[in-house]
Amino acid sequence: MVAANWKMHTTPADAGALAATIAARTRVDGPVIRVICPPFVCLAAVRDALAGSDVAVGAQNIHHEPLGAYTGEVSAPMLAGLATWVILGHSERRRDAGETDEQIGRKLRQAVAAKLRPIVCVGEQLAERESGRAADIVADQVRAIIGGYAGEGEALARLGIVIAYEPVWAIGTGRNATGADAAAMAGLIRATLDELEFTAGGAAVPVLYGGSVTAANAGEFFAEPAIDGALVGGASLKPEEMAGIVARAGLTAQARANGIA
Ligand code: PEP
Repeated sequence: MVAANWKMHTTPADAGALAATIAARTRVDGPVIRVICPPFVCLAAVRDALAGSDVAVGAQNIHHEPLGAYTGEVSAPMLAGLATWVILGHSERRRDAGETDEQIGRKLRQAVAAKLRPIVCVGEQLAERESGRAADIVADQVRAIIGGYAGEGEALARLGIVIAYEPVWAIGTGRNATGADAAAMAGLIRATLDELEFTAGGAAVPVLYGGSVTAANAGEFFAEPAIDGALVGGASLKPEEMAGIVARAGLTAQARANGIA
């Protein structure tokens, strides 16, 4: 799976053309799920541009309530017909909007109710990694966001929850984690889901890596069997980068389907 997070880039006037170019440049033989997450105001343009393709549309956030006095916010039910995926708990929202794990857990409930497939982001800060606390931080985030779902894991798995491990120090910095680090964190995330008695089992949950992924380094992550794809920020606005990343994902998907990776 390769998901594109366009962040606060593009306008309704240019987003459709970019999405169509990326869709055309990322057609591959392997079974790769492709998702483009533009800003809210570009969702309709991107949906229309991708109609007839198998590239899905995602939102970058939802509110933790379905409706109410929340000026400037967008709720999950409002996205009906516009998006089928949603990114939850991105570190830029934790940083800029003060989102907490508790709120992200409530957003997850809203996504499930609206049948939006969630991409739940977790990841440690640089100081947390340097002080040897990265694993504890990420496990705590998984517990806090998904723990409320103990016993409902099958519903989440049926909906197709995806977790993105995104070390905060690697996002938009050009400094990526290693494939081995990302794989270790994916193992920890799945073990934490098992510990929560996530009923479908942690193994059923795809884990993506995100943080300065490019066409040049994507292969290092996809070579790890524990990693199921990438959440791509900056490079996702560049069709040639997306072409390279998805081509890599396609080769990996084919190899895994043939039992040779
Ligand atoms: C992201 O926005 O989720 C991300 C990983 O950004 P970048 O690829 O630019 O680091």
